[in-house]
Amino acid sequence: MSALAGKLEDFRAGITAIDCDYVRPRLAASHLVVDAGRAAFVDTGTTRSLPNLLHALDAKGIDRDDVDWVLTTHVHLDHAGGAGALMRALPNARCAVHPRGARHLVDPEKLIAGSIAVYGEERYRALYGEIAPIDASRVFVAEDGARIRLGARELELIHTPGHALHHYCVVDAANDLIFSGDTFGISYRDFDVDGRAFIFPTTTPVHFDPQALCESVDRLMAYGPRSMFLTHYAEVTELERLARELKERVIAFADLGLRYRDARDRTDKLRHGMFAMMSAWLDAHGYPSDDARRHWLLDEDVELNCQGIEVWLDRK
Ligand SMILES: [Zn+2]
Repeated sequence: MSALAGKLEDFRAGITAIDCDYVRPRLAASHLVVDAGRAAFVDTGTTRSLPNLLHALDAKGIDRDDVDWVLTTHVHLDHAGGAGALMRALPNARCAVHPRGARHLVDPEKLIAGSIAVYGEERYRALYGEIAPIDASRVFVAEDGARIRLGARELELIHTPGHALHHYCVVDAANDLIFSGDTFGISYRDFDVDGRAFIFPTTTPVHFDPQALCESVDRLMAYGPRSMFLTHYAEVTELERLARELKERVIAFADLGLRYRDARDRTDKLRHGMFAMMSAWLDAHGYPSDDARRHWLLDEDVELNCQGIEVWLDRK
């Protein structure tokens, strides 16, 4: 058995979650979808995730020629940073991207600069490595409601602003499931208690829009799915509860921002307030009260979420 075998987890409907080895185990997934011998990846992780993705193809006995699609839900680098490197390895694949994201995958300079602004140069290099451009002729610009074929199944790509303006979700209506990227928030398996998932929104820079995000969650739920597959991380069910909690928490984050909007030490107040808020939700969820572990699992998201809320406050 290869050391990479533990990175794969199989689900229904021909879906395998692949650990992208981003930051820590089971933080970011790429999903491999196989139907009638054809395959697609939904999100790619970073360039450093590529070996795990190619290993997943080998493990499933799928030839690289048989991958038809690389579906990048949005162009944030933990979702699409590896798309260029992956496309080079897949001769027949097309990369589907939102109209607002397409030029960034063809010419990643601005994406790289934006990410360095968020993460700082050193951390950016450590996290993402090289970002390869994608030839424009291999990019499929996904308009809202675009339908694509994968083997015997049809997938619908729908625009879902709120987390990012360049975000789409992948609806697999025949299988009652949706790949939600970051639109349906974050649900790390680390926080599962007795099989119950814990969920919270991701409000990273620079497009967070609470109202649009809640409307996008409603749009996803209107399909009546049984499962969502989240990039962070993999399958969740019990969707009525999670959608309700997610929307409540979007509003709670926005209200937190408004409360400290004009505070002199706004950044500090937001960070402490958000961690305290999430800690209270974890208490209610029945998660052990181990503060060090909570910080280890949440600090990165608290930091990015607060940055995104400040961008939103300054834009309003
Ligand atoms: Zn994102």
